[in-house]
Amino acid sequence: MNDVYQLEQVRKDFVANASHELRTPLAIIHGYLENLLDDNMIDDPEMARRFLLIMRTHTERISRIVEDMLVISRMESGEAGALKIEPFLFHSCIMDILERLESYIRHQRAEMIVTMPDPALVIQGDRFYWTQVLFNLVENALKQNPNGGLRVEIGCEQVEENIRIWVSDNGVGIPGDDLPHIFLRFFRVEKHHSQQEIKGTGLGLSIVKRAVEAHGGTIGVVSEPGCETRFTITVPVERP
Ligand code: ADP
Repeated sequence: MNDVYQLEQVRKDFVANASHELRTPLAIIHGYLENLLDDNMIDDPEMARRFLLIMRTHTERISRIVEDMLVISRMESGEAGALKIEPFLFHSCIMDILERLESYIRHQRAEMIVTMPDPALVIQGDRFYWTQVLFNLVENALKQNPNGGLRVEIGCEQVEENIRIWVSDNGVGIPGDDLPHIFLRFFRVEKHHSQQEIKGTGLGLSIVKRAVEAHGGTIGVVSEPGCETRFTITVPVERP
Protein backbone atom coordinates (compact mmCIF):
# COMPACT_ATOMS: atom_id res chain seq x y z
CA MET A 1 0.00 0.00 0.00
CA ASN A 2 1.57 3.34 -0.93
CA ASP A 3 1.62 6.34 1.41
CA VAL A 4 -0.74 8.51 -0.64
CA TYR A 5 -3.33 5.75 -0.77
CA GLN A 6 -2.94 5.13 2.96
CA LEU A 7 -3.33 8.83 3.79
CA GLU A 8 -6.43 9.03 1.61
CA GLN A 9 -7.84 6.00 3.44
CA VAL A 10 -7.16 7.59 6.84
CA ARG A 11 -9.01 10.74 5.66
CA LYS A 12 -11.98 8.74 4.40
CA ASP A 13 -12.15 6.79 7.67
CA PHE A 14 -11.97 10.03 9.62
CA VAL A 15 -14.80 11.65 7.69
CA ALA A 16 -16.91 8.50 8.02
CA ASN A 17 -16.23 8.23 11.76
CA ALA A 18 -16.80 11.92 12.38
CA SER A 19 -20.11 11.86 10.50
CA HIS A 20 -21.19 8.83 12.49
CA GLU A 21 -20.23 10.46 15.80
CA LEU A 22 -22.15 13.61 14.93
CA ARG A 23 -25.19 11.74 13.65
CA THR A 24 -25.92 10.11 17.01
CA PRO A 25 -26.44 13.28 19.11
CA LEU A 26 -28.19 14.98 16.18
CA ALA A 27 -30.68 12.11 15.88
CA ILE A 28 -31.35 12.30 19.63
CA ILE A 29 -31.95 16.06 19.49
CA HIS A 30 -34.20 15.63 16.46
CA GLY A 31 -36.23 12.97 18.28
CA TYR A 32 -36.82 15.18 21.31
CA LEU A 33 -37.74 18.14 19.10
CA GLU A 34 -40.35 16.00 17.39
CA ASN A 35 -41.74 14.98 20.77
CA LEU A 36 -41.93 18.60 21.84
CA LEU A 37 -43.44 20.02 18.67
CA ASP A 38 -45.44 17.23 17.05
CA ASP A 39 -46.62 15.39 20.14
CA ASN A 40 -47.42 18.62 22.01
CA MET A 41 -45.14 17.78 24.92
CA ILE A 42 -44.38 21.48 24.98
CA ASP A 43 -47.63 21.93 26.93
CA ASP A 44 -46.17 19.94 29.79
CA PRO A 45 -43.54 22.31 31.23
CA GLU A 46 -41.89 19.72 33.43
CA MET A 47 -41.48 17.24 30.60
CA ALA A 48 -40.44 20.02 28.19
CA ARG A 49 -37.73 21.12 30.62
CA ARG A 50 -36.43 17.57 30.93
CA PHE A 51 -36.26 17.23 27.15
CA LEU A 52 -34.49 20.58 26.78
CA LEU A 53 -31.85 19.56 29.32
CA ILE A 54 -31.16 16.34 27.42
CA MET A 55 -30.95 18.31 24.18
CA ARG A 56 -28.48 20.71 25.78
CA THR A 57 -26.20 17.83 26.81
CA HIS A 58 -26.16 16.52 23.26
CA THR A 59 -25.50 19.94 21.72
CA GLU A 60 -22.54 20.26 24.08
CA ARG A 61 -21.26 16.94 22.75
CA ILE A 62 -21.56 18.15 19.16
CA SER A 63 -19.61 21.31 20.05
CA ARG A 64 -16.86 19.25 21.66
CA ILE A 65 -16.52 17.00 18.62
CA VAL A 66 -16.41 20.00 16.26
CA GLU A 67 -13.82 21.77 18.45
CA ASP A 68 -11.59 18.68 18.50
CA MET A 69 -11.95 18.28 14.74
CA LEU A 70 -10.90 21.90 14.25
CA VAL A 71 -7.77 21.34 16.33
CA ILE A 72 -6.95 18.24 14.26
CA SER A 73 -7.49 20.06 11.00
CA ARG A 74 -5.34 22.97 12.21
CA MET A 75 -2.59 20.50 13.03
CA GLU A 76 -2.89 18.65 9.73
CA SER A 77 -3.21 21.60 7.41
CA GLY A 78 0.38 22.78 7.58
CA GLU A 79 2.06 19.98 9.51
CA ALA A 80 5.41 20.95 10.98
CA GLY A 81 5.49 24.17 8.96
CA ALA A 82 2.53 25.45 10.93
CA LEU A 83 4.32 25.07 14.24
CA LYS A 84 5.24 28.27 16.01
CA ILE A 85 8.50 27.22 17.59
CA GLU A 86 9.66 29.37 20.48
CA PRO A 87 11.42 28.73 23.79
CA PHE A 88 9.10 28.63 26.77
CA LEU A 89 9.22 27.53 30.39
CA PHE A 90 7.47 24.19 30.62
CA HIS A 91 6.68 24.90 34.26
CA SER A 92 4.52 27.86 33.24
CA CYS A 93 2.64 25.64 30.79
CA ILE A 94 1.88 23.22 33.66
CA MET A 95 0.71 26.13 35.83
CA ASP A 96 -1.58 27.32 33.01
CA ILE A 97 -3.38 24.03 32.69
CA LEU A 98 -3.65 23.57 36.47
CA GLU A 99 -5.31 26.96 36.58
CA ARG A 100 -7.67 26.09 33.73
CA LEU A 101 -8.65 22.84 35.42
CA GLU A 102 -8.72 24.33 38.93
CA SER A 103 -12.45 23.98 39.59
CA TYR A 104 -12.48 20.44 38.16
CA ILE A 105 -9.53 19.51 40.43
CA ARG A 106 -11.17 21.09 43.47
CA HIS A 107 -14.53 19.45 42.75
CA GLN A 108 -12.85 16.07 42.42
CA ARG A 109 -10.55 16.70 45.41
CA ALA A 110 -7.72 15.33 43.31
CA GLU A 111 -4.17 15.52 44.61
CA MET A 112 -1.94 17.11 41.97
CA ILE A 113 1.82 16.60 42.08
CA VAL A 114 4.30 18.44 39.89
CA THR A 115 7.72 16.80 39.57
CA MET A 116 10.23 19.05 37.88
CA PRO A 117 13.79 18.72 39.19
CA ASP A 118 14.66 21.85 37.20
CA PRO A 119 11.72 24.30 37.23
CA ALA A 120 13.65 26.56 34.84
CA LEU A 121 13.66 23.88 32.09
CA VAL A 122 12.95 25.46 28.71
CA ILE A 123 11.29 23.66 25.80
CA GLN A 124 11.64 24.67 22.16
CA GLY A 125 8.21 24.12 20.74
CA ASP A 126 4.77 25.39 19.98
CA ARG A 127 3.23 26.38 23.27
CA PHE A 128 -0.33 26.04 21.93
CA TYR A 129 0.32 22.37 21.10
CA TRP A 130 2.02 21.58 24.39
CA THR A 131 -0.75 23.17 26.40
CA GLN A 132 -3.25 21.07 24.43
CA VAL A 133 -1.19 17.91 25.09
CA LEU A 134 -0.97 18.46 28.84
CA PHE A 135 -4.56 19.61 29.11
CA ASN A 136 -5.90 16.50 27.35
CA LEU A 137 -3.79 14.10 29.42
CA VAL A 138 -4.60 15.67 32.79
CA GLU A 139 -8.28 16.17 31.91
CA ASN A 140 -8.49 12.48 30.93
CA ALA A 141 -7.10 11.42 34.32
CA LEU A 142 -9.72 13.59 36.07
CA LYS A 143 -12.58 12.65 33.73
CA GLN A 144 -12.09 8.90 34.06
CA ASN A 145 -11.87 8.96 37.84
CA PRO A 146 -14.73 10.83 39.45
CA ASN A 147 -14.85 8.66 42.57
CA GLY A 148 -12.28 10.35 44.80
CA GLY A 149 -8.83 9.41 46.03
CA LEU A 150 -7.26 10.46 42.75
CA ARG A 151 -3.60 11.36 42.61
CA VAL A 152 -2.22 12.83 39.38
CA GLU A 153 1.46 13.47 38.74
CA ILE A 154 2.79 15.74 36.00
CA GLY A 155 6.50 15.46 35.45
CA CYS A 156 9.17 16.85 33.18
CA GLU A 157 12.93 16.36 33.16
CA GLN A 158 15.84 16.37 30.79
CA VAL A 159 17.46 12.97 30.23
CA GLU A 160 20.61 13.37 28.16
CA GLU A 161 19.55 14.63 24.69
CA ASN A 162 15.83 14.26 25.36
CA ILE A 163 13.12 15.82 27.41
CA ARG A 164 10.83 13.37 29.13
CA ILE A 165 7.33 14.45 30.08
CA TRP A 166 4.89 12.22 31.91
CA VAL A 167 1.37 12.30 33.30
CA SER A 168 0.37 9.48 35.61
CA ASP A 169 -2.63 8.69 37.75
CA ASN A 170 -3.70 5.98 40.18
CA GLY A 171 -7.21 5.61 38.73
CA VAL A 172 -9.27 2.96 36.93
CA GLY A 173 -6.65 2.55 34.21
CA ILE A 174 -6.87 1.12 30.72
CA PRO A 175 -7.42 -2.62 30.16
CA GLY A 176 -4.47 -4.32 28.40
CA ASP A 177 -6.60 -5.32 25.39
CA ASP A 178 -7.47 -1.67 24.75
CA LEU A 179 -3.98 -0.22 25.12
CA PRO A 180 -2.90 -0.80 21.48
CA HIS A 181 -5.92 1.18 20.20
CA ILE A 182 -5.92 4.02 22.68
CA PHE A 183 -4.41 6.65 20.34
CA LEU A 184 -6.82 5.90 17.47
CA ARG A 185 -9.39 8.53 16.59
CA PHE A 186 -12.75 8.04 18.26
CA PHE A 187 -11.52 5.07 20.27
CA ARG A 188 -12.99 4.96 23.77
CA VAL A 189 -12.70 2.18 26.32
CA GLU A 190 -16.05 0.39 26.18
CA LYS A 191 -15.97 -0.48 29.87
CA HIS A 192 -15.67 3.20 30.88
CA HIS A 193 -18.55 4.34 28.76
CA SER A 194 -21.28 1.77 29.18
CA GLN A 195 -23.41 3.91 31.51
CA GLN A 196 -24.67 6.58 29.10
CA GLU A 197 -21.33 8.31 29.60
CA ILE A 198 -20.96 10.92 26.89
CA LYS A 199 -18.26 13.23 28.20
CA GLY A 200 -15.48 12.35 25.77
CA THR A 201 -15.13 12.37 22.01
CA GLY A 202 -12.35 9.79 21.66
CA LEU A 203 -10.28 12.40 19.82
CA GLY A 204 -8.19 13.72 22.73
CA LEU A 205 -5.36 11.20 22.62
CA SER A 206 -5.10 11.24 18.82
CA ILE A 207 -4.60 15.02 19.08
CA VAL A 208 -1.93 14.46 21.75
CA LYS A 209 -0.08 11.94 19.58
CA ARG A 210 -0.26 14.20 16.53
CA ALA A 211 1.14 17.16 18.47
CA VAL A 212 3.97 15.14 20.01
CA GLU A 213 4.95 13.69 16.63
CA ALA A 214 4.88 17.14 15.03
CA HIS A 215 7.69 17.99 17.49
CA GLY A 216 9.70 14.89 16.51
CA GLY A 217 8.72 13.08 19.71
CA THR A 218 7.07 9.81 20.69
CA ILE A 219 4.42 8.90 23.23
CA GLY A 220 3.72 5.63 25.02
CA VAL A 221 1.44 4.41 27.77
CA VAL A 222 1.53 1.69 30.38
CA SER A 223 -1.37 0.91 32.64
CA GLU A 224 -2.01 -1.27 35.63
CA PRO A 225 -5.69 -0.62 36.34
CA GLY A 226 -6.31 0.67 39.86
CA CYS A 227 -2.60 1.13 40.42
CA GLU A 228 -0.91 3.35 37.87
CA THR A 229 -1.57 4.62 34.35
CA ARG A 230 1.36 6.52 32.90
CA PHE A 231 1.68 8.40 29.63
CA THR A 232 5.32 9.13 28.77
CA ILE A 233 6.46 11.53 26.06
CA THR A 234 10.02 11.77 24.78
CA VAL A 235 11.13 14.70 22.62
CA PRO A 236 14.62 15.67 21.51
CA VAL A 237 15.99 18.82 23.17
CA GLU A 238 17.23 20.04 19.78
CA ARG A 239 14.66 19.89 17.01
CA PRO A 240 15.84 17.63 14.18
P1 ADP B 1 -11.96 11.01 25.24
O1 ADP B 1 -12.40 12.27 24.59
O2 ADP B 1 -12.99 9.92 25.24
O3 ADP B 1 -11.33 11.23 26.58
P2 ADP B 1 -9.31 10.24 24.39
O4 ADP B 1 -8.79 9.96 23.03
O5 ADP B 1 -8.68 11.35 25.16
O6 ADP B 1 -10.86 10.46 24.24
O7 ADP B 1 -9.20 8.92 25.25
C1 ADP B 1 -9.66 7.70 24.69
C2 ADP B 1 -10.12 6.77 25.79
O8 ADP B 1 -9.01 6.32 26.55
C3 ADP B 1 -11.04 7.43 26.81
O9 ADP B 1 -12.37 7.45 26.35
C4 ADP B 1 -10.84 6.56 28.02
O10 ADP B 1 -11.69 5.42 27.95
C5 ADP B 1 -9.39 6.10 27.90
N1 ADP B 1 -8.45 6.88 28.75
C6 ADP B 1 -7.67 7.92 28.38
N2 ADP B 1 -6.92 8.36 29.41
C7 ADP B 1 -7.23 7.58 30.47
C8 ADP B 1 -6.81 7.53 31.85
N3 ADP B 1 -5.90 8.39 32.35
N4 ADP B 1 -7.39 6.58 32.64
C9 ADP B 1 -8.28 5.71 32.15
N5 ADP B 1 -8.71 5.69 30.87
C10 ADP B 1 -8.21 6.63 30.04
